[in-house]
Amino acid sequence: MPATRTALSVSTTHPDPGPPGGHCRVTVLSWHVQASEDAPETVADPGYHLRYRSHCGGRDSEGPIRSRENEAVEDGCDHAYPGWRELPVMEKRPYEGAPLRRWEAECRRVYPAGWFDRQGPVRDYRTAGGTRHVPGYAPGGGYCMAVVRREPTHPAPAPAAVQDALFT
Ligand SMILES: [Zn+2]
Repeated sequence: MPATRTALSVSTTHPDPGPPGGHCRVTVLSWHVQASEDAPETVADPGYHLRYRSHCGGRDSEGPIRSRENEAVEDGCDHAYPGWRELPVMEKRPYEGAPLRRWEAECRRVYPAGWFDRQGPVRDYRTAGGTRHVPGYAPGGGYCMAVVRREPTHPAPAPAAVQDALFT
């Protein structure tokens, strides 16, 4: 744990940072903004009362300071799991039971071998209401990264002339 900032703490909702020298992994540190603290350029919302940054215990590496948790999680995944942004997007993770087991089996089938053994993240489709990257929800205990599904676009109506042609 870096000693440069006494207010730093590991949020208990995130995985622990792992032992020094261990493999790279993602955790997120969060802290309350001190009155004297200037917001760096990486902070999207300087008025927000919390700051976040990713942390990797394996290499004692930290990402930029953020005001949005999701950004810090993404920074951490960029560090620990390069290429994660190109991996398949799964259907939304089921909550429990057989649907969850089927979903996890499908994730393991389509993701690289060993990926989830290193607590790699999984990407899943979400709707606009639930876009948090959720720690612990990937098959191996890593992050479940929200990908917001775009609303389907309705095809343009067929031109009337084509319709008429069918009946002549
Ligand atoms: Zn690392």
